[in-house]
Amino acid sequence: MKIAVLTIFPEMLSSVLSASILGRAQAEGLLQVEAVDIRKYSGRKHKNTDDYPFGGGAGMVMLAQPIVSAVEDMRKRGYAGKCLYMSPRGKTLTQQTVKRIAEQEDDLIILCGHYEGVDQRAIDLVVDTEISVGDYVLTGGELPALTLIDAVARHLPGVLGSGESAQDESFSSGLLEYPQYTRPREFRGLAVPEVLLNGNHAEIEAWRKEQALKITEERRPDLLNGKE
Ligand code: SAM
Repeated sequence: MKIAVLTIFPEMLSSVLSASILGRAQAEGLLQVEAVDIRKYSGRKHKNTDDYPFGGGAGMVMLAQPIVSAVEDMRKRGYAGKCLYMSPRGKTLTQQTVKRIAEQEDDLIILCGHYEGVDQRAIDLVVDTEISVGDYVLTGGELPALTLIDAVARHLPGVLGSGESAQDESFSSGLLEYPQYTRPREFRGLAVPEVLLNGNHAEIEAWRKEQALKITEERRPDLLNGKE
């Protein structure tokens, strides 16, 4: 999958994208992410990318022109997929959406806003979908974009190693995950549940399912009602 992230702060992306699983996925050619500097596309003399809002009010608004020009350039460069705008007004990101994107999209353009957001005309002209990472407001769209990329990458074939799996995790079966333990068997007086030590796989599976249900009932009963 190929992803272009449109941002006025491209330097915000590099450390997250080069580390751990995302770094490995890119080195192996399974994922390609490029940070595209919106500023380069500004037609203004000083390459600025924002201005005061019409109608007054606090803060600045990102100009439509550099964003639209950047997306048009991405289209010329072969990005044919959806243009997503990370926005608190968008539909909240879920595991279902993440999986759908990983399975159905070959490439994506992700737009990151800043300040008070972007001129509505840029959204009207080039954005297909607005996506939120939750009901709170961040200073910019880069962390939401990285969140989306990380979550999608885990579902791309070959990205997770054989020891890692997206199959058995929270949300994959509509439930939160069961508790996990590793060595030692006892830590500060707390022992690993006996069932995990007896090697009986059917019993272990039944215990894990029961625990997953219990935790989901306690913490996220909405998931049990089919609402993710
Ligand atoms: N004035 C906007 C509002 O009230 O909806 C908030 C703008 S926010 C300070 C600046 C940028 O951060 C947004 O354009 C968006 O790209 C990003 N952002 C902030 N919160 C977000 C969230 N919950 N999900 C996705 N993106 C978010």
